[in-house]
Amino acid sequence: MPQIIFIFFSSCLLAFGVSAKSNPRIAIAGLGIESSTFSPALTNEEAFHTKYGAEVFSLYPFLSPDSSLRLRATWIPILVGNSLPGGAVTREAYESLVKKTLDSLRKYLPYDGLFFDIHGAMSVVGLDDPEGDFIVRIRKVVGKGTLISTSMDLHGNVSWRLAENSDLITCYRMAPHEDAMDTRERAVENLVSRIESGKGRPAFKAWIPIPILLPGEKTSTRIEPGKGLYKAVAPAAAQKGIVDAAIWIGYAWADEPRNHAVVMVTGDDKMLVIHTSEELARRFWAVRFSFGFVAPTATLTECLDSALKSKQHPFFISDMGDNPTAGGAGDVSWTLKEILSRPEFQLENGPSLIYASIPGPDLVQKAIKAGVGATVQGYAGAIVDARYAPPLLIRGKVKSIVYGDPDADIEVVVQVGSVQIIVTQKRKPYHKEIDFTRLGLYPRKTDIVVVKIGYLQPELYAMHSGWIMALTPGGVDQDLERLPYKRIDRPMFPFDKNMPDPDLSARLVPASDKAQ
Ligand SMILES: [Zn+2]
Repeated sequence: MPQIIFIFFSSCLLAFGVSAKSNPRIAIAGLGIESSTFSPALTNEEAFHTKYGAEVFSLYPFLSPDSSLRLRATWIPILVGNSLPGGAVTREAYESLVKKTLDSLRKYLPYDGLFFDIHGAMSVVGLDDPEGDFIVRIRKVVGKGTLISTSMDLHGNVSWRLAENSDLITCYRMAPHEDAMDTRERAVENLVSRIESGKGRPAFKAWIPIPILLPGEKTSTRIEPGKGLYKAVAPAAAQKGIVDAAIWIGYAWADEPRNHAVVMVTGDDKMLVIHTSEELARRFWAVRFSFGFVAPTATLTECLDSALKSKQHPFFISDMGDNPTAGGAGDVSWTLKEILSRPEFQLENGPSLIYASIPGPDLVQKAIKAGVGATVQGYAGAIVDARYAPPLLIRGKVKSIVYGDPDADIEVVVQVGSVQIIVTQKRKPYHKEIDFTRLGLYPRKTDIVVVKIGYLQPELYAMHSGWIMALTPGGVDQDLERLPYKRIDRPMFPFDKNMPDPDLSARLVPASDKAQ
């Protein structure tokens, strides 16, 4: 609502603008989502949980009121939205969010800088390269004199026009993304320093597309070759004459020409920018055959057999074909249906298994009516993605009901035999121990934990005593060679295994004020 936005801006300008006239004026805007075009799900505006005006600061601890960065500029927070990964964003949602951004930006012109906080793998129905489209439209409003510093996920895509319109650009150096906030802080620090020092936009930006398309589950930086490859990024960026260096793995579950790996290096020393980018690109290409899944993979049946045989617990199984944090609908019921049909789990004293999770608004509402301790029966799953199994009829005992999670809204634990199923009002990925314990579930004391994610996030990784990733079906199928790509560039590794070596020479991107 415009009135509310106005109030936020007024208070923010009063608090952070008037006293420091010489401070640069820096806007903050961006949209973050990775969306699979191989999923039938669609993402609407509400999913972005958009923050406006001063609310935006809450996303960035390094911009807290007493932080040094906060004091070095007059901040004009515009709009930042972040959605859980999902299906393609509707054109209406995208246009609405872009319009709100541009309208607000117009009100508070001019800007010395703009921090563009995006993921980089948004798909929008009927529109290619949305982040490229977004930055071009922002440029038209803010003009060519504004320095834009773009911060991204390493699973984002960097099109030529995104590179052209960004003056500074960087991405995470770790997967899982333990450095997500450090990356944003670096993007902002580089922006503020370049403006403060009067150096402005770096003189050179090198961009190298690498014809490799791999899933995140094969490119973790915890293990080789991703570990060694990404270890080279920080030293490359620390050289005198270089401002930043970054490697994007890219996003595998969308079908556009921009979906592939990219290396970018920015700096003022032309030869060093070229040399550093080519060195990183060559390293990446050289190790392409060494990428493998970060954990053993197997069919679900094999995973369950191994987990049941294992003497080590908790034994984790990733239900990764429908991983909502990669863009799966998160409501494929196939895996849960298979688990519930296994004879081992039919009795309450059978091997304990937690299944996290399945959206089931019907079952959630019935559980609320029945109450904790009662028996409930209702449907869960397959509202969005019913391609592999229909909605699943679940009958079991309500163990707990918890309200108020920002993603799930309401979470219910239903016990069927020895299986504890987390049923949610809306989809939610389970990454942390507290996600379970707050529901009265104790993964450390459970025999088998099945999670709808791909690679295990740090807390679950630290507690696992066994882990297999199940090659289950869904919108983010990990077997990329099964996906019906039509529009990605070819040849592309690993689809064209025997392709000749590509041209990995640096392409110098025109400065943003020279961009088309
Ligand atoms: Zn990512």
